[in-house]
Amino acid sequence: MNHKRYLALSTYFRTIFGHRVQKIPLDANSSCPNRDGSLSRHGCTFCNQRGSGTGLAEQGLTLEMQYAAWRDKYRRSMPTARFMAYLQSFSNTYGPVKRLEKILLALQDLPDLVGLAIGTRPDCLDEDKLRLIASMPWPQTWLDLGLQSAHERTLQRIQRGHDADCFAHWTTQAARYGLKVCAHVITGLPGETLADFKQTIAFVNCLPVSGIKIHNLFICQGSAMEQQWRNSSFTLLERDETIAWTVQGLALLRPDIVIHRLNADPSGDELVAPQWARDKRALLRDIEALLQRTNTWQGQALGYPLSPHFSP
Ligand code: SF4
Repeated sequence: MNHKRYLALSTYFRTIFGHRVQKIPLDANSSCPNRDGSLSRHGCTFCNQRGSGTGLAEQGLTLEMQYAAWRDKYRRSMPTARFMAYLQSFSNTYGPVKRLEKILLALQDLPDLVGLAIGTRPDCLDEDKLRLIASMPWPQTWLDLGLQSAHERTLQRIQRGHDADCFAHWTTQAARYGLKVCAHVITGLPGETLADFKQTIAFVNCLPVSGIKIHNLFICQGSAMEQQWRNSSFTLLERDETIAWTVQGLALLRPDIVIHRLNADPSGDELVAPQWARDKRALLRDIEALLQRTNTWQGQALGYPLSPHFSP
């Protein structure tokens, strides 16, 4: 068996809890200021109207019903697993603090739940919300915060609607409340080079970030980026370039940062291009193979040795 060359979330959870922890995606019918007109009506250029959502809330399924359905499904193959609820769709801390409180209270008594991850934007946080989230009883509470790039010109080009300083500020504040921040970044954003991506990793390293998702850029159906890509205003990275960027990014990443994902998770009907992004497992397998072949590991380029903590 090849040993892991990075600190995978599954390894981290096994170390903390002693057993498998499975994330359950939940749709809280949230919105986003970059879509509802408060900042913009266009959204980030890589995102579409679904906002990474399952659409289950719109179908009338409460958070409790969604959780129960996923839990029953996973229980069949993983009888001893515990679960982490992941509020994934749109920006879940957007709106009044009372709304967030209602969502969190609905989750509080769910069975076998050991943690919560809240997907949101850094500009949708404030002190009251951080205090509220930090008061929740789970042993692990994560904030999944979109950064995407540390470069202002890129953030403007993808119509992100906030700057990197905003991410840095609210990451620092969240850490003061004991919350764990998982930064989301993307390889191959329009106009970015490998050097730009490495600078984004260096930016993350300097902040109290506890986790990261490195997503490969894909074209989402109905996004503004789809039109730009069809007009040839930029080109996508090739598969082998994506793998090489990810491996080099990992080599530059602090070894204590937990790797939540190394690939994007496009739903089948949303993926326009590249077609290779459809096979997420194969992409991850080949990232791990390149790490092995080139004897590279997380933090290596910063001078850290290959950590025994990377393998369970
Ligand atoms: S990516 Fe997130 S922040 Fe951007 S428009 Fe979509 S839901 Fe809003």
